[in-house]
Amino acid sequence: MSKSPKLIWENCLGNLSYVLEEDDISTLRGVQLRENNGQWQLVALSNPIRSQLEKKYISFIEKALKKIDPSIKKVKIMMEEPDLFDGKQNSENKNNSNIFKSYLNSDYQFDNFISGPSNDQAFAAAQRVGSGALDFNPLVIYGGTGLGKSHLMHATGNALKRLGNKRVMYVNAETFVNDFTRTLQNKARSMEDFAAQYRNVDALLIDDVQFLGGKERSQTEFFHTFNSLFDRRCQIVLTCDRFPKEIDGLEERLKSRFGSGLSVSVTPPELETRIAILQSKAEKFDFELPDDVAMFIASHVVSNVRELEGALRSVYARCLTFKRTASIALASDALKDHINAQNRQISLEKIQKSTARYHKISMEEMLSKSRKANIALPRQIAMALSKKLTQHSYPEIGEAFGGRDHTTVIHACKKIQERLDKDINFRNEYEELEKILTG
Ligand code: ADP
Ligand code: MG
Repeated sequence: MSKSPKLIWENCLGNLSYVLEEDDISTLRGVQLRENNGQWQLVALSNPIRSQLEKKYISFIEKALKKIDPSIKKVKIMMEEPDLFDGKQNSENKNNSNIFKSYLNSDYQFDNFISGPSNDQAFAAAQRVGSGALDFNPLVIYGGTGLGKSHLMHATGNALKRLGNKRVMYVNAETFVNDFTRTLQNKARSMEDFAAQYRNVDALLIDDVQFLGGKERSQTEFFHTFNSLFDRRCQIVLTCDRFPKEIDGLEERLKSRFGSGLSVSVTPPELETRIAILQSKAEKFDFELPDDVAMFIASHVVSNVRELEGALRSVYARCLTFKRTASIALASDALKDHINAQNRQISLEKIQKSTARYHKISMEEMLSKSRKANIALPRQIAMALSKKLTQHSYPEIGEAFGGRDHTTVIHACKKIQERLDKDINFRNEYEELEKILTG
């Protein structure tokens, strides 16, 4: 049986998410695909969207649609009167208003997650949780931006849902806080309703919990939500951009709850994993990516997977625009700005050397284990500047400073910030050094 246009469009958006930005996808979610007497139509709600479809998206869409259903050769772009469109959407929403919304993104699955040394512990733990085992509760996945935390979280939720858990809820901590604040101000909705919404679930996945830092009342509410779920043996999964104990302004009792299960980190992927990610993404979109081009992209885009995807997208878009196959020359052109920006980036070594010179210590002392104040302080300054002026993660900076742990770097950044806040002479010196480094 052939698929419905609605399903085909869903599949198409799923495929396009590999090549288009999130903003593009949400624009396209407002478009409908229809079939009318053998003619395929893309129906836009407004003129600007219609012209974007024509100018920007159509070649991507036709290619993706053809892949899903080879009989779709051409798509006609049309406009529909907004009120008709709105009316249809509203009636659909009305019918669905009582249905539980999980907010899970079905594009993020375990089988399209590439694992390697940088993330395999987190991957294994997430799969274990997704299998329904309650060994790790809560599971906390932490690490820098664009490294796959949300992907693993959604994949875990999708797996739990497939096991038959109907009420698996994904929410960003920011949404939780905003929802809570709105409920506090809004007499129309009671606190009980708010609490029930987050507690009446089989599993709760809260993304980016660092956002709770400093939000005292939300934390209190979240503490009760957490306890209620935990006591009922519901799985809780959290992600965080740093080790949870390092979240500023987070109550001790929450830190201790967060640490009571398993915390696993994701770090920037190594070269082999980056290449594998590129190849897997390219394959999903039928984009022929020669090994040397994958190697070229992976060697130039090192910081995180989101940027890697962006780079692949630029190369792919250039191939489509100029109707050419991918080559190193084409990729280097497509990534010109990225590569230039990277060349301008300050290296950790430069920061270490300049800081050592400024504070009159040697490079050996900078990298040594010495705790003498006149050496430890410049070292902490150099660590803080490394975090501020480069894309390197805490673990990478720790490694570059004589193989130290990432928590030492986090501690250094905190100490330096405290001193900057209260010591004006220190601040002046720090800023002078920063100017020397950034030219
Ligand atoms: P984070 O939540 O850590 O900021 P995301 O989970 O949003 O990062 O990942 C950013 C993008 O990179 C997403 O599109 C995700 O699918 C992709 N991604 C990250 N890590 C991997 C991986 N190991 N394999 C495949 N895709 C990945
Ligand atoms: Mg995320």
